[in-house]
Amino acid sequence: MTPALPMLRIGHGYDLHRLEPPAPHGRGRPFILAGVHFDHPVGPVAHSDGDAVYHAVVDALLGALGMEDIGQSFPDSAPEWEGKDSATFMEAARRTLEDKGFALVNLDVTVICERPKLAPQKSQMIANIARLLGVDVARVNLKGKTHEKVDAVGEGRAVEVHVVALLAQVAAS
Ligand code: MG
Repeated sequence: MTPALPMLRIGHGYDLHRLEPPAPHGRGRPFILAGVHFDHPVGPVAHSDGDAVYHAVVDALLGALGMEDIGQSFPDSAPEWEGKDSATFMEAARRTLEDKGFALVNLDVTVICERPKLAPQKSQMIANIARLLGVDVARVNLKGKTHEKVDAVGEGRAVEVHVVALLAQVAAS
């Protein structure tokens, strides 16, 4: 017989958005990460608002629950998600998590981009994630890294985000 195991679930989320200048020189939207707008000459090419942090967080949570990814839940062919504030996706993921009887233990976010520097906005980004997920800021960690000037991310042509989330079951689903 299998011994009882703690009801913990881990999930990984990943997202990347190409960065372009705004119209008419490109298709970039305003640069936004974890709900914080950065003054930057290029921004994400995306169907929604292109918030790569929120997208990767949602995928980590859905992954931990053994569910399909954000692209299945909110298809980029659907007109209702055009330019959508990605906080909507975070709120939907939080509801799904709670409906399934899980709570967030902790979240670790790594943002990789050459510019802009995230440090001055880091605490605001963490506060936004924690607020949308209804958890204490101590449960959310966020790190910024560069890509050492190599490849698309290092050349400032893309932003990349990795997230690991740990969930614990708090109620029978
Ligand atoms: Mg995305």
